[in-house]
Amino acid sequence: MNIKSVFSKIKRKNDEITPVIPEKEPMMFDAVNIDTNNTCNQRCRFCFTSFDEKKINMDIETFKGILKILPYVKDYAGGGYGFYLSCIYEPTINPNLLKYLSLLPPIAKNKCFITTNLAIPMNKEFIKKILLSNIHLINISIESLKENKFEYITQNKKFKTYKNNLETLENVIKETPDIPKFRFITILLKENREEIIDLIKYTNEHFPIESHEVRTPYINYYKNMEWNKNQYMQKSETEQIITELKSLDYHLDINIDSIEDLEILYETNNKNNDEKIKDIYTQASEKISVVEDYEYLFLRINPDGTCIDKKTNLPEKIPINESEKYFKQKLFELYEYKAKVTYCPTYKNNKEIIAESFIMMDKLVQNEAIIELSGWCCPDRDIDINKLIIRLTGFDGDVHHYHTSTRKRLDADAFKGKKDGWCGGYTTYIEKSKLKDNEYFLDFLYEDYSGNTISYRWNHSIKIN
Ligand code: SF4
Repeated sequence: MNIKSVFSKIKRKNDEITPVIPEKEPMMFDAVNIDTNNTCNQRCRFCFTSFDEKKINMDIETFKGILKILPYVKDYAGGGYGFYLSCIYEPTINPNLLKYLSLLPPIAKNKCFITTNLAIPMNKEFIKKILLSNIHLINISIESLKENKFEYITQNKKFKTYKNNLETLENVIKETPDIPKFRFITILLKENREEIIDLIKYTNEHFPIESHEVRTPYINYYKNMEWNKNQYMQKSETEQIITELKSLDYHLDINIDSIEDLEILYETNNKNNDEKIKDIYTQASEKISVVEDYEYLFLRINPDGTCIDKKTNLPEKIPINESEKYFKQKLFELYEYKAKVTYCPTYKNNKEIIAESFIMMDKLVQNEAIIELSGWCCPDRDIDINKLIIRLTGFDGDVHHYHTSTRKRLDADAFKGKKDGWCGGYTTYIEKSKLKDNEYFLDFLYEDYSGNTISYRWNHSIKIN
């Protein structure tokens, strides 16, 4: 009996299986971070940026080419989404800034935001031009309103300029219609701990802000790690600060870690590095975690017209005359790579025990590159919910196996009346170009704690179109 006739028999035995066509979704970057220059007028002690490179301002033609990416970037929706017109450097020191802003098309109004330290001299006209451009949001840094503290933290003797700009901005906002949204950001330090409540009251009382973010400094392996680490406070202190912040009647984004949080993070990283023996499920889940990172569908664009994606992490020159085609291809490759890391070409089948289950598909979508499926399974017996392979079996015999990212689904446990951790959540990605048949069954192959493969079939098929 050839494989084709075996699968035809399966199909006939499962008359109740009905086909589902994955819903179409456009391919979009979650975020594009662009810096039009690589310098800053300050040297904040907590800054993780390096200022060693040769100074560059992006030329106007390059900027125009880069704007072709806008239709393929999601709208701003809080951290992680949208088009960052500045990211790790200060945009207002670039003499081309107002020209760039004048080139932003109306579509940018939902996507584009800049972050500024507001510490170069700015007159009313300059600020007004920024406010009248197609920018959605302006982030402003505020670490201190005390001259000595400000100048110590920023290593910039320009407190009076900063304070003057805040006051001019406040006045321009009052006389300008259709202004962008505003957010303030404060890096919480021991240096400004006593001032934090006053800073939040000030920004809320003087500006029509969307929110004020308070966060502890980034820790990484650049120059200021020790200084930043020393600014972290004990958990008892950070809990006290969080309580004080929450008692204010303002919209705040609070991302405050303590010394104890840092230690846990350090131990977790080291434990992962020490782990030498990893089974196929653990190896796959590490690779999938890269493509499921919230910053994966992301592109960083540098002032020299190069870009870096999270797949290669290498700078690549953008062909400015064909930039739209290039960005679409880049998106396709990023999506396709999601499916490449889940693909399991060497799956070895144990003797399969076919069993009954309840499989839910919460999300079944497709774009030009992949099909994404996600949901949960309530199995009929105790299995390891983290050891799951999904098999696609084509009606004409084309068979593929996929690793999955897995998780607990306590909501499903409660819904099905099971003990916590019984139901397993799953997600996987399927490369469309690999599929030869028009319709596929899905089998969920879990391992139990004795090493058996328990197979559960979804009661729908996936139709490819
Ligand atoms: S203003 Fe921003 S980019 Fe400039 S030094 Fe401070 S943190 Fe770094």
